[in-house]
Amino acid sequence: MVLIQDDKGLYCPAGDFYIDPWRPVARAIITHAHGDHARPGCTSYLCAEAGKLPLALRVGSHIQTVQYGEQLSMGGAKISLHPAGHVLGSAQIRVEVGGEVWVVSGDYKRETDPTCDPFEVVRCHTFITESTFGLPIYRWSPAEAVMQNIYSWWQTNAEAGKPSLLFSYVMGKTQRIMASLAVFDNCSDSLYAHGALQQMNQAYRESHVFLPDAPNPLTMPANHDFSSALIFAPPSAQGTPWMQRFKNSVTGRASGWMRVRGRRRRLALDRGFILSDHADWPGLLRTISDTGAERVVASHGSAQILTRYLQERGLDTDVMTTSPWDESEDVQE
Ligand SMILES: [Zn+2]
Ligand SMILES: [Zn+2]
Repeated sequence: MVLIQDDKGLYCPAGDFYIDPWRPVARAIITHAHGDHARPGCTSYLCAEAGKLPLALRVGSHIQTVQYGEQLSMGGAKISLHPAGHVLGSAQIRVEVGGEVWVVSGDYKRETDPTCDPFEVVRCHTFITESTFGLPIYRWSPAEAVMQNIYSWWQTNAEAGKPSLLFSYVMGKTQRIMASLAVFDNCSDSLYAHGALQQMNQAYRESHVFLPDAPNPLTMPANHDFSSALIFAPPSAQGTPWMQRFKNSVTGRASGWMRVRGRRRRLALDRGFILSDHADWPGLLRTISDTGAERVVASHGSAQILTRYLQERGLDTDVMTTSPWDESEDVQE
């Protein structure tokens, strides 16, 4: 076996390393800096060069990097990292042992995203795929259309003199929307970002991703007029006293989960935008087919449903259990 699962996560015996381990280990290769994949406490970390600064915010120092496509040898294993298109620096991990090739996708998407390199198809024998949105109901609209909707919603609110509060995940989703809105009018002097987003926005800028200016609204004078502003905030800020500063505000959230009927209303949001950094159902199937893999291991979300579908089409499949933290929707947007 090229990779096996033990109580710390996904382990490569030939190379003596873990991929996205759940517990502290000596050597960890990290697909990306989201909390369900990158955990502090390991002795050493390896990630794609583009993901170094976001990962450092999560785990501190001890981070080595490689360029996408660069090959390394660890013991009897050859390793390379390839773009996953999920968030800045996200990588699929290709592991080759004795001519057998496995690819661990991490989280990925096939849609365009101005903040990261596009997904690269890597041929393999075994493909370990995420399946967060592995149900046929999940089909995303083109990202350009969703960004246009977010922009129109904001402009309509601004014309009515109402601040727009948009809740989106701290790493990835927020910066993707900010970078995508930069092409529209009125984006200078109207965007703000909650204090909890500032460090990550800075890490993106230092990684050469262009983001429009978005100061912390709490640094503005007390009588500042936010009536035409678009204010980004993490989901955890919803319903907190922080919101009281923005009188008559309208709330929205951008997440793949907005596809689920009733979710927006239950979260007491005025508007939901279906925008995910994960592959939708057609994206998962297309990617699995593109890799040429004869064996597919699914993890996250609807793994059972995806693998049953693939089995019926003649593929060898397996389901990988994920750590207890992985099913939290806050990190699976
Ligand atoms: Zn992720
Ligand atoms: Zn994930």
